[in-house]
Amino acid sequence: MIMKYELVIGLETHVELNTNSKIFCSCGGHSAANEPNDCVCPACSGMPGMLPVMNKRVVELAVTAGLMLNCEISRYTTFDKKNYYYPDLPCAYQITQLNHPICTNGIVHLKTSEGERDVRIKQIHMEEDAGKLVHAGKASYVDFNRTSVPLIEIVTQPDFRSAEEVLVYLNKLKSMFRSGGISECEEGAMRCDVNISVRPEGSEEFGVRSEIKNMSSFEAIERAIRYEAQRHMDALEFETEELVQETRRFDDVSGKTFAMRNKETEADYRYFPDANLMPIIIDDEWLEQIKAAKPEAVDEKAEAYREAGISEKEIDMLIHNHTVSKLLDDVVAMGCDAKNTAGWILTDCVGILRKSGKVLGDLEITAEDLAAIIKMVDSGDINRPSGRKILAAVLEEGADPVKYCKENGLDSKVDTATIEAIMDRIFSENAQAIADYKNGKVKAKQSLFGACMKELKNTGDTAVIRELLEKKLENI
Ligand code: ADP
Ligand code: MG
Ligand code: ZN
Repeated sequence: MIMKYELVIGLETHVELNTNSKIFCSCGGHSAANEPNDCVCPACSGMPGMLPVMNKRVVELAVTAGLMLNCEISRYTTFDKKNYYYPDLPCAYQITQLNHPICTNGIVHLKTSEGERDVRIKQIHMEEDAGKLVHAGKASYVDFNRTSVPLIEIVTQPDFRSAEEVLVYLNKLKSMFRSGGISECEEGAMRCDVNISVRPEGSEEFGVRSEIKNMSSFEAIERAIRYEAQRHMDALEFETEELVQETRRFDDVSGKTFAMRNKETEADYRYFPDANLMPIIIDDEWLEQIKAAKPEAVDEKAEAYREAGISEKEIDMLIHNHTVSKLLDDVVAMGCDAKNTAGWILTDCVGILRKSGKVLGDLEITAEDLAAIIKMVDSGDINRPSGRKILAAVLEEGADPVKYCKENGLDSKVDTATIEAIMDRIFSENAQAIADYKNGKVKAKQSLFGACMKELKNTGDTAVIRELLEKKLENI
């Protein structure tokens, strides 16, 4: 009999933090380095006697990430030394957190095509990255640019049940961390260890797991999960091999995983508290400051946009573009309607940009200028086509909206009497159109409206003009 199996996955995700300097010294971020070992100092290259100095910003970003993932924030947090020898680790230990990690017990809500799932976050801890080995023929070189670059490691409980859930989770972390300034999450700046096991459906016990190390492409993660799940199921179903708890690597070319080593245990690392670093105390005041500075999470933001009546497609464009969503928020803060403003940005601005081969990412307009245009239209001082004309002038020539409006005679508010007089004349000159309208040709109304707008040189409040036209047609 062929059994049905359930997939069980837990993730350990390393994310490089977006700081100006490394975690324990003042070297700049390694991405600024042009050449190997450009960004090193005696501390991060492991010279004897050098002492680490904690980068405060790392704590703040780690706490912010914890708040985004609904974690408890530890008020007392400490560092430990994890000992192992490898040439890219000059101290022969990594500074990380074992006993008192900075965040614990979080939760992330996921929506997939199969439904919803809550994944529990076991903990988030801060640590330093290792360097890189560069192999050249028989020799290997070591590049310390990446040593002591700050990382957070986010450890989940074994709560994922499919590859899709894993990808939804990773994409969610990525957009949250990007929009929140935690990390740019470029390729390589977000790396996962994927722990996988399978168990017969309905079973309470977890199966033997393997850990696939250091995966950075989402596409590869998905392939690795599928391969590994099948390998486990075959082992259980057909006794193709005996499963052991081990560390494996995924080979991108063959699409298979290979054993690297038996899983090391905590004892193998001889962890002990790092006496060179003082415990960090996060008091109420500091925590409040971090909370106040925390940007709204993508989820909350999307929900707020949804409530304002903005469409799903527009929300998607907004939350993936921090600059544009900030422009929208700023214009709304100046008193404009959110849904209307979204339309101005995502339809009108985009339309104008497209004419010169540009895209939304090229948009350059101040919140003040955009708000000024929208307000002129909303108050009826100018009509929408004129508003669009002004917007084009601002985007294409850097014009000042109010000045441009005046200089081009767009701001003339037309009084009702003038509109009515023009309409009377148009009605007497267009007997045919009126007869057509009476005979049920709805299009005739549009041509009458067009004739009015032409007479008015496109000024006047279009809503008022339409209303007057309706009234006049009713009375004939
Ligand atoms: P270790 O200390 O050995 O690394 P942890 O308890 O920290 O073990 O777990 C590491 C990761 O492995 C976590 O993300 C956890 O959710 C996951 N995990 C633990 N057991 C299983 C299992 N049986 N199947 C899949 N994932 C697991
Ligand atoms: Mg672990
Ligand atoms: Zn340094």
